[in-house]
Amino acid sequence: MNTFDPASESPAAPLALFGGTFDPVHFGHLRVATDTAIALKLPEIRLIPSKKPVHRDATSASADQRLAMLRLGVSAFPGLSVDDCELTRDAPSYTALTLEHFRREFPERPLLWIVGIDAFLGITRWYQWQHLFDLAHFVVLNRPGFAVASALSAQLAEVWNGRLTNDPHALRSSAHGRLLLHTVAPQAISATEIRNMLTAGASDNALLPLLPASVLAYIRGNRLYARPN
Ligand code: ATP
Repeated sequence: MNTFDPASESPAAPLALFGGTFDPVHFGHLRVATDTAIALKLPEIRLIPSKKPVHRDATSASADQRLAMLRLGVSAFPGLSVDDCELTRDAPSYTALTLEHFRREFPERPLLWIVGIDAFLGITRWYQWQHLFDLAHFVVLNRPGFAVASALSAQLAEVWNGRLTNDPHALRSSAHGRLLLHTVAPQAISATEIRNMLTAGASDNALLPLLPASVLAYIRGNRLYARPN
């Protein structure tokens, strides 16, 4: 990590987890994760690729390919690592199961689940959603100027108001159960756009601002997201 913080070396340093499909990983993911790690003085963020639905878009990469690209992508980002637990598990990529897995491994350690605000607003539809706060803290990534409070359902507002903290230390003094809103600079990059560009035959020059060169080389080498012949 760029910022050294002795507290981050303590046994209670939180383990932060950031899930997604990463199809493919891009600078939006990598910069947002790095920004969050620096801002909250997190020694480690593990990026966790999820399984995709069986009937996925034919232009998607396989799980092994997404994992390989993610490993290449994080290599230039100290503090970020990859964990394939959702891909190796013979069960759906439910966050509750993933957090139970980490809680078994780290019974006392604070766990942080990092999630974008849009996904968080749908959390009441997640498997065993209320149980999630018994397992981890949530770091919710917000866009500048977005008024979260007015977007919450009544059910979610109750959880939000009861668990919200502005103090990052609260994420270290207990192992789970708090919510912290972290505003990040918007990154005008999406994996969907990258896939569409590749399918349309975009040049390396057009793509290199969006994702690491090593990831682009892997995509080219494996002819991923290419236009069907
Ligand atoms: P797709 O376009 O395929 O939906 P995505 O990049 O939006 O791809 P994921 O790979 O699942 O989707 O993203 C993982 C996490 O990264 C999500 O929490 C998502 O909100 C966040 N994320 C994705 N792109 C950005 C971005 N440009 N800036 C900030 N966060 C992002």
